Amino acid sequence: MGTVATRFLPFHLPLIEEEDVQAVREVLRSGWLTTGPKVRQFEREFAGYVGASHAVAVSSCTAALHLALDAIGLEKGDEVLIPTLTFAATGEAVIYFGAKPVLVDSTPDTFNMDPDEVERSITPRTKAIIPVHFAGQPCEMVRLLQIARDNGLKVIEDAAHALPARYRGRKVGTLGDITCFSFYATKTITTGEGGMAATENEEYANRMRMMSLHGISKDAWKRYSAEGSWRYEILAPGYKYNLTDLQASLGLTQLAKCDSMWARRAMLADRYTEALSSLDAFQVPQVAPDVQHAWHLYVILVNPRALRIHRDQVIEELKQRGIGTSVHFIPLHTHPYYRKRWRYHKGDFPVVDNYFDRCLSLPLYPAMSNEDLESVIEALTDIASKFRS
Ligand SMILES: *Cc1c(COP(=O)(O)O)cnc(C)c1O
Repeated sequence: MGTVATRFLPFHLPLIEEEDVQAVREVLRSGWLTTGPKVRQFEREFAGYVGASHAVAVSSCTAALHLALDAIGLEKGDEVLIPTLTFAATGEAVIYFGAKPVLVDSTPDTFNMDPDEVERSITPRTKAIIPVHFAGQPCEMVRLLQIARDNGLKVIEDAAHALPARYRGRKVGTLGDITCFSFYATKTITTGEGGMAATENEEYANRMRMMSLHGISKDAWKRYSAEGSWRYEILAPGYKYNLTDLQASLGLTQLAKCDSMWARRAMLADRYTEALSSLDAFQVPQVAPDVQHAWHLYVILVNPRALRIHRDQVIEELKQRGIGTSVHFIPLHTHPYYRKRWRYHKGDFPVVDNYFDRCLSLPLYPAMSNEDLESVIEALTDIASKFRS
């Protein structure tokens, strides 16, 4: 172990413990490495955990979004409303279909997609809304679902940050038509790479399962096992989006500690809020009263009236003090592709533009110690006083 003074606190570390290693080792020794019984068990346990009727395991959340949009029948020329404050995946999944991603601003409290802006952005071509539960805080789903119902739109949730999150008591995973989760290395549970699509709709589930493995007939993965047969039929030109048993075995042990990892993050987040609220240099996250925040990210905003350095310099100052941070996200409308292809400009979305200039994500993960957390608070307190304006 290094000494405290020379140690760098990374922005994120996964919590991989002995049971995780053991589970993967067992699959390695089992003779069945790709999609098989562990994937089916992971799907069952995940569906049970979020309370969904169906869960389809796939290779990433991006794949889940792609399959979800295929399942609802998205077509070329359709429009899909997505927040500009999101990761590349939310937009690219729409573009795969030759459909148009229509970007939407956020509200200034939670920075989730603004339902009023959603309503204003609907056209006769709008087919779906993809709300992103930013940082792990559920969107205003009652409003969004009502807007969707009133306008005949589907709701595909990007819940890459939102395991486990609740909205008015219900777990995220059963609210919209299809909910897409991520098990990427930095997410709240991980399989290295992986994702899940949860739905109440059996037809959607069957279509997504089929399309996730070459569009070939049911239980194609069994064809090399005793129960299977060599015979299969291609029903549609599908994709190679299946999760492996190696990944699913890790998913199962990670899912088993999803609640305890959440409790630890929530505790760390509360401590951040308690300590940082007294510094006027930084604004802490606001949480709506009727949600359980998954606390995937803890995002603070620099207050330029109380701090004479910019966010970028705050990141540098933290790095010099041995603390890793990140920025979520560079808004889609400011990227070259979105500017060139879809004619967006910096300044088009005032709330998110202002947010992006000031935001900063702090380390928040169960593998962090209380001392790690205190070192972040100490560094921010020091920066706030050193650079007071
Ligand atoms: C991580 C992330 C994704 C993509 O997840 P993958 O599993 O890496 O495909 C999608 N949307 C958001 C908001 C994300 O943060």
